[in-house]
Amino acid sequence: MISQLIFGIILLAALVLFYRNASKIYRNIKLGKSVDRFDQPGERIKIMLLVAFGQKKMFKRPIPALLHLFVYVGFVIINIEMLEIVIDGLFGTHRVFSEALGGLYDFLIFSFEILAFLVLMGCVVFMIRRNVLKVKRLNQSELNNWPKTDANLILTAEILLMAAFLTMNAADLKLQVLGVEGYHAVGSFPISSYLLGILPDSPSVLIGIERFCWWFHIVGVLAFLNYLPISKHLHILLAFPNTYFSRLEPKGEFDNMPSVTEEVKVMLDPSLPPPTGEPSRFGVKDVQDLTWKNLLDAYTCTECGRCTSACPANITGKLLSPRKIMMDTRDRVAEVGKNIDKNGSFVEDGKALLDTYISREEIWACTSCNACVEQCPVNINPLEIIIGLRQYAVMEESQAPSSINNMFSNLENNGAPWKYSQADRANWANQ
Ligand code: SF4
Ligand code: SF4
Repeated sequence: MISQLIFGIILLAALVLFYRNASKIYRNIKLGKSVDRFDQPGERIKIMLLVAFGQKKMFKRPIPALLHLFVYVGFVIINIEMLEIVIDGLFGTHRVFSEALGGLYDFLIFSFEILAFLVLMGCVVFMIRRNVLKVKRLNQSELNNWPKTDANLILTAEILLMAAFLTMNAADLKLQVLGVEGYHAVGSFPISSYLLGILPDSPSVLIGIERFCWWFHIVGVLAFLNYLPISKHLHILLAFPNTYFSRLEPKGEFDNMPSVTEEVKVMLDPSLPPPTGEPSRFGVKDVQDLTWKNLLDAYTCTECGRCTSACPANITGKLLSPRKIMMDTRDRVAEVGKNIDKNGSFVEDGKALLDTYISREEIWACTSCNACVEQCPVNINPLEIIIGLRQYAVMEESQAPSSINNMFSNLENNGAPWKYSQADRANWANQ
C-alpha cells in the first residue's frame, strides 16, 4: 500500500511539473506574431506522416537514419508498456495485462525486448559517433558545453533505461523459473534470457533486483519526461506539430511584407486610402518579431547539424551556421520567457536576438540558397529568421554591407542591380 501511495505521488508530481513546463513553452511560442498555417489540412497531415512519422528526410543518410529509426520506434513502442507499469504501480498488481492478452502478451514482450536491444545498440553507436569518431557535424563549436552534455545525457539515459528494462525482465524470468509466488510463467524473453546466468539464485535478491529495475525504469522515464522541456530532445514531441505547420509555398518564394505592399500600392495609385496604423517594426530585431512558427521551429530543432553540413557559407569557412541560428533563437526566447516569469510581463533587458545572439557577420554570410531548409529532417526554416534579421538591419537601421548598398543605389537610380543607365540596358544585344 505504501509503495502504491509513493508511486501515485511521484506520478502526479511528474505530470504536474511537465504540464507546468510545457505550458511555459506554449506561452513562449505564442509570443511570436501570427501566421496562418491552418489551411490545407489534408496536405499538412500528409507531410506530417511522411516527414515526422515516416522520417522521410532522414533517409538521405541511410546509416544514421536506420539507427535513429531503431531508437525512435523502440523508445516510443516500449513506452506503451508504461501503461501496464502505471496500472501495476497504482493497484499493486504484477504484469496486469498478461492474463487478459494471453498469447498476444507474449508477442508484445518479445517485441519490446528486441526493440529495447536495438535502442540500446543504436544509442551506443550514436555515443561512439559523437565522442570517439567525432563526426564533424556533431562536434562543431556551437555544440560546446551544454549542447554536447545534453546529447550525451540523453543517450546515457536511454541506455540506462533500456538496460534496466532488460534486467528487470531477466530477474522476472528467473523468478518465474524458480516458481516464486507472484511471478507466474508469462512472457517471451529473447534478449533478457541471456542474462539469467549472471543473476544470483536467491529469490529475495532477485526480487530486490526486479523491484529496483522496475522503480528505476518508471522513475527514470518520468524524470526524462521532465527533462524534455530543457533539452533538444523535445523534438520527439514537437516534430509532429512542426511538420504539420510546414510552409507549403514553394521553397525560395519570399513573402512580401504586408505593410510595405500596402504603402507601395498607395504610391502607385493615390486614389487608394492611406495605410492604416503604423507597423511596429520592419523585420526582426528580437524574438517577439518572429512568427510563432519560427519559435516552434526553434524549440523543435534537434541540433543534428544536417543544415549546417549542407550550408555553403559554413562549408566555405564563414561564421554562419543555420543550426546556431535556431539554437540562438531558442536560447533567446527561453530568456525572454524567464524575464516574463520574473516580472509578470517582459521588461527591457538591453538584449536582442540580433547582435546579442546573432551577429551581422552571420546574417550577411547567407546566400539564401535554401539548402538548410531542404536538409532539415523536421522542416525547420532558418532562412526565414535570417531574412527577417536582414530586413530589420536594412529597413530600420539602413545598415547593410557596402556591396549591397551599391546594389540598392543602382536599383534606385537605374531600376536594375547593375550600374548602367537605363538607356544602356539593351546594349548587350548589340555585341
Ligand atoms: S539559406 Fe543561408 S543558412 Fe541556409 S544553407 Fe543557404 S547559405 Fe546556409
Ligand atoms: S535546423 Fe533542422 S537540420 Fe538544422 S540542426 Fe536543427 S533539426 Fe537539424
